[in-house]
Amino acid sequence: MSILIIGAGHAGGAVAANLRQAGTDAPITIIGDEPYLPYQRPPLSKAWLKGDVAFSSVGLRPETYYAQRSISLRLDSRTVAVDRAARAVTLANGETLPYSTLILATGARARRLGLAGEELSGVHALRTIADADRVKTGLIAGQRFVVIGGGYVGLEVAASARLKGMDVVVIEREARLLARVASPPISAFMQQYHERQGVRFRLETGVTGFDVRDGRAAGVQLSDGTIVQADMVLVGVGAMPNTELAAAAGLACGNGIAVDLDARTSDANIFAIGDCTERPLPHYGCRARLESVASALEQARQAAAAICSTKAPVPEVPWFWSDQYDLKLQIAGLSIGATRIDVRGDAAQGKFAVAHFDERDRLCAVEAVNAPAEYMAGRATIGKERAV
Ligand SMILES: Cc1cc2nc3c(=O)[nH]c(=O)nc-3n(C[C@H](O)[C@H](O)[C@H](O)COP(=O)(O)OP(=O)(O)OC[C@H]3O[C@@H](n4cnc5c(N)ncnc54)[C@H](O)[C@@H]3O)c2cc1C
Repeated sequence: MSILIIGAGHAGGAVAANLRQAGTDAPITIIGDEPYLPYQRPPLSKAWLKGDVAFSSVGLRPETYYAQRSISLRLDSRTVAVDRAARAVTLANGETLPYSTLILATGARARRLGLAGEELSGVHALRTIADADRVKTGLIAGQRFVVIGGGYVGLEVAASARLKGMDVVVIEREARLLARVASPPISAFMQQYHERQGVRFRLETGVTGFDVRDGRAAGVQLSDGTIVQADMVLVGVGAMPNTELAAAAGLACGNGIAVDLDARTSDANIFAIGDCTERPLPHYGCRARLESVASALEQARQAAAAICSTKAPVPEVPWFWSDQYDLKLQIAGLSIGATRIDVRGDAAQGKFAVAHFDERDRLCAVEAVNAPAEYMAGRATIGKERAV
């Protein structure tokens, strides 16, 4: 038996460790197309941009960890095809590697706007360490930075850039920030907090192109016909799951590679974990693609348990966090099925929580700003049958 893991990201690194912890001594190989050991992406929009963070503090584990546990790493190697009949994968260099069990942990990539000029110097996305290093080089006090997209990554980078003394404008197509992922009270609070730090917003505004000067992006053209000048632009408009390998191999895919609660795909010998999957959410009776470390780690445990025939982990309530300035936003659960919200605490004091309830008064989700006790209490209560 040999286990191949495609993708040396958070999920890929975690599942290799989980497999060894679960007791398998099968050969394990992780194939990753980035040149780095598996690392954490959350610091890339936060600590990595703000200071001198060494790779050792974002890497999941040191190189010796993998060597000591006979986990082989094939870095800088892209997998280009999966042959399910032959149970083998092909790498970009033409090499073929056999597997008994395959784990797809291919993650997601930054979504593009699809506009001419997006490839210009001065226009960046943020998904990898290489991206973060390019953005970091452009964080220069007094220079103009336009962030396209008022989601978590856009706002975290905006906060990091303001702390560096940049002039920051965020362009958002929707009427409020974090529209897809947070409630209106959180959106309003975040907007006010950023504005107090000097960030300017253009809401309900699309981007139609880039203003080019000397082969560089010098500004962003907006749907209202105006141009916002920029020394650097970040396109932070979400992520797309890397499902191409799975789809080409004929695996069932929806908004991600379709998996069950064992993280198993439509092929019994192939598992998929992390940002590339569309997974069941047992607390909510539906399926969705989650982009979070917590979900990637949970699915890594599910896959390892199924592969090693150990006890399946108890399904977790989804959770997420975002750090901006001195704010810690923690979210437990999803507002799917919620019919009302209740705001507790005082937003003016920068410490409050928004609780989401369904029609039977059961707690579905809690969003907490600098309120860890409310977050923890909410996380423990979500999914329980009792009304709150
Ligand atoms: C800037 C940023 C900030 C974030 N902040 C937070 C946060 O605060 N909290 C939180 O919970 N989550 C956060 N996230 C999301 C979190 O990082 C992801 O949910 C997590 O990384 C998912 O892990 P993954 O292993 O599924 O995917 P990834 O970490 O994307 O890893 C997938 C890896 O597979 C590689 N790969 C893809 N295709 C192939 C192939 N064919 N061959 C070989 N290798 C391949 C990719 O290059 C990549 O290295 C953030 C993400 C970003 C980008």
